[in-house]
Amino acid sequence: MHPFTLTRTGDAEEAIEAHARDDRLAYIAGGTDLLGLMKDRVTFPERLLDINGLPGTASIEELGDGGLRIGALCRMSDVAADPRVRERFPVITEALLLSASGQLRNMASIGGNIMQRTRCAYFRDDDGPPCNKRQPGSGCSALHGSNRNHAIFGWSEDCVATHPSDVAVAFAALDADVIVRGRGGERVIPFTGFHRLPDSMPERDTMLERGDLIVAVEVPARAEGRASHYLKVRDRQSYEFALVSVAAAVAADRGRLRSVRLAMGGVAHKPWRLTAAETALRGAALDDDGALRSAIATSFADARPLARNAFKIELAQRAVLRAIQTAGERP
Ligand SMILES: Cc1cc2nc3c(=O)[nH]c(=O)nc-3n(C[C@H](O)[C@H](O)[C@H](O)COP(=O)(O)OP(=O)(O)OC[C@H]3O[C@@H](n4cnc5c(N)ncnc54)[C@H](O)[C@@H]3O)c2cc1C
Ligand code: SF4
Repeated sequence: MHPFTLTRTGDAEEAIEAHARDDRLAYIAGGTDLLGLMKDRVTFPERLLDINGLPGTASIEELGDGGLRIGALCRMSDVAADPRVRERFPVITEALLLSASGQLRNMASIGGNIMQRTRCAYFRDDDGPPCNKRQPGSGCSALHGSNRNHAIFGWSEDCVATHPSDVAVAFAALDADVIVRGRGGERVIPFTGFHRLPDSMPERDTMLERGDLIVAVEVPARAEGRASHYLKVRDRQSYEFALVSVAAAVAADRGRLRSVRLAMGGVAHKPWRLTAAETALRGAALDDDGALRSAIATSFADARPLARNAFKIELAQRAVLRAIQTAGERP
């Protein structure tokens, strides 16, 4: 691993200024993704700025309407265990508890989690096969290579990778906001617009600019929040990233869906909202598998599988059906 210095800061403005001015400096929170990327020679920062001491960023606060503001430096395990999160947004707790391992969740922060980079094996391979995300212009080894785990929605010829975060899928379904502080002050980025599709610039994962610091994720109160569920399908039951995953949150009256929120992981370069299905599902009976399946299918009409991942189209739809029905059983 190449040499680097480590300094700590307790001053957000100082951190933002240093990051904006110095493109060889990286923020470090838990370090569980950044250090892996450095060991795999994907990224070579010379200066790491430890942001764990920034005041007011490691707690969960009430928003006036019953929503929650989750500080970016909160640990994944603390957020998962918070009684307000468990009660109001079980989909967040479940997404977190199905992520990584207990040790990793104790170190890893919420801000770092939503910033983690793709697990595409070519991107992480320290032998450096062609990868536009790692080396812009070099090509995409996955496009006609090993692409079983890759995207079925929103990919480009330049990159077919998926975004790996589980909790990001829950945040997208709940229409959370990312609170970002930068040189120009604080701004709010809707969660569904925070991560980018690859287009011709797969090296850019998010809408953040140099200097930008995530300070919190705000989850507004949702009628569907309590009846919510995260379903993750993976090759082994623990310590594995999703093949496909679903965050479902529903509001139902006497067994019929009044409103539904749906997002998927493992299918695109960002958490993927199923907006057509959300509309088509309104009014459907929770025990009418046929009607639910047809409504869910409306969001898969534009799926574009790669050579090795067509199985995800059926798998994803089955997962959505089960996630909705499980969420609907919750009081
Ligand atoms: C073996 C393994 C298995 C895993 N399995 C899963 C899984 O199943 N599901 C899942 O969701 N995740 C999984 N992860 C990923 C893990 O959850 C992330 O590594 C972790 O959440 C990153 O958080 P961190 O605080 O350690 O980030 P860091 O590694 O410190 O930082 C990651 C990136 O975010 C930037 N950053 C950090 N905080 C901020 C901030 N406040 N503002 C702006 N930029 C910031 C850093 O500069 C860096 O670029 C796994 C990781 C490993 C190693
Ligand atoms: S899918 Fe994206 S990350 Fe993977 S090899 Fe292609 S360009 Fe690189």
